[in-house]
Amino acid sequence: MELKKNSYHTVTVEGMNSEGFGVARIEGRAVFIAGALPGEKCKIKLLKVSKTAVYAKLDKLLELSPNRIKPDCPYFGQCGGCDFLHMDYEEELRIKKNRVNDALARLGGLGLTVSGIIGAPARKRYRNKAIFTVSRDVTAKKHQAVTGFFRPRSHQVIPVDSCLIQSEAADQAAFIIRNWMDEYAISHYDEKTGKGLIRNLFVRTAFFTGMTAVCIVAAGDIPRRNKLIGLLRAGLPEIRSIILNINKSRGNTVLSGSFQTLWGEDSIEDVLCGLVFKLSPLSFYQINSNQAEILYKKAIEYAELTGNEKVLDLYCGTGTIGLCAASKASKVVGVETIEDAVKDAKENAKRNNIINAEFICSDAGRAAKTLMKQGFHPDVIFLDPPRKGLSGDTVQAVADMSPSRIVYISCDPATLARDLKLFQSLSYEPQKATAIDMFPGTVHVETVVLMSRVDK
Ligand code: SAH
Repeated sequence: MELKKNSYHTVTVEGMNSEGFGVARIEGRAVFIAGALPGEKCKIKLLKVSKTAVYAKLDKLLELSPNRIKPDCPYFGQCGGCDFLHMDYEEELRIKKNRVNDALARLGGLGLTVSGIIGAPARKRYRNKAIFTVSRDVTAKKHQAVTGFFRPRSHQVIPVDSCLIQSEAADQAAFIIRNWMDEYAISHYDEKTGKGLIRNLFVRTAFFTGMTAVCIVAAGDIPRRNKLIGLLRAGLPEIRSIILNINKSRGNTVLSGSFQTLWGEDSIEDVLCGLVFKLSPLSFYQINSNQAEILYKKAIEYAELTGNEKVLDLYCGTGTIGLCAASKASKVVGVETIEDAVKDAKENAKRNNIINAEFICSDAGRAAKTLMKQGFHPDVIFLDPPRKGLSGDTVQAVADMSPSRIVYISCDPATLARDLKLFQSLSYEPQKATAIDMFPGTVHVETVVLMSRVDK
């Protein structure tokens, strides 16, 4: 039977794909259904039938999953942030664990499965970093400023007054910015025309210290600065830093161009695993501090450090993993491409009186080759790349360094599985893995894997 657009079918959902769509089969073809949960029987309407994929809309739920719950966020399904608020947390963790195991088996061809998934204590208010897009509500009479997020696959900003996964400070900062814009008729930046001023609002709240940094991203200098500073200070007692980022680029990179501290410090501090970390706006910092601590402890446990090892921390950000491991290692070298993050990492070593750590600003693969030429032979390598994973060249450069153990931290099971397979062909056998839920409510899942060198 040929599947036709707009036709109705009754199906039972078998699983979930990596984007959070329920997956059912009709005549052997996989059909992706937004909002449907595994085990549910439903009537669906086919929206798109192409050679590669079939997408359907949920028309009627006939049998509900016992794990289905009512999402408690009014923006769910619109703002593009969360994917899993229509199921209980137990089901979310089950789906995430399956997804990692599925990727390891099907994409990596590996026998390895995760020993479990470590859930988060809170499904709400767990993010320490918020980035709102600033716009204006053209449908309302008053043309009020709005802050929110893009509707998936569109440039339409969904106004979100309170985002339940952000900190309360982030919601409050957004409220203040909206009022300031309305009060003084300050324009928002329109990405279509390139005209207007305020583009984004970036808020980082250190969960341990409570310190908050607010960065206003604008296409040019902003008027009424002192008013804004006064409003932010009055409304956010924890505020330590107000920064203006003048970003004149036409692209969609949020933080870019020049940075100017309008009030307070250039950066804030947080405490993780008992160490103090300086955080500049551009530096990467794990967005879920509670789970980051668990992740780092697991990674360091996998590294089996005794105090004598030389450690290479590739994709080190502000040096967090390497510095947390430094007391159990003889030497740590961290590598990172963002210059500000490297500066922070060096400063972080100093602040914590760590004298056996060095940081280099470079591409990870290139640094691995250079360090090897210089005679640095690490016993353990930590890898924590962005979602796209490692290039083949970098996998080769890492394996060429011949460490006894490699601990790979990944936020994308698919690229992880691909890279593990390549490492396996270079004599690195995956030994054990744990999944950690850093991003409750969303499809994203973190995995940490230990590989050991096996002599073939
Ligand atoms: N390990 C850190 C950061 C992980 S995020 C932490 O846990 O906080 C990944 C980091 O890799 C980012 O800081 C990013 O700037 C950096 N990065 C991206 N591409 C890189 C490359 N080719 N070489 C080195 N670092 C890179």
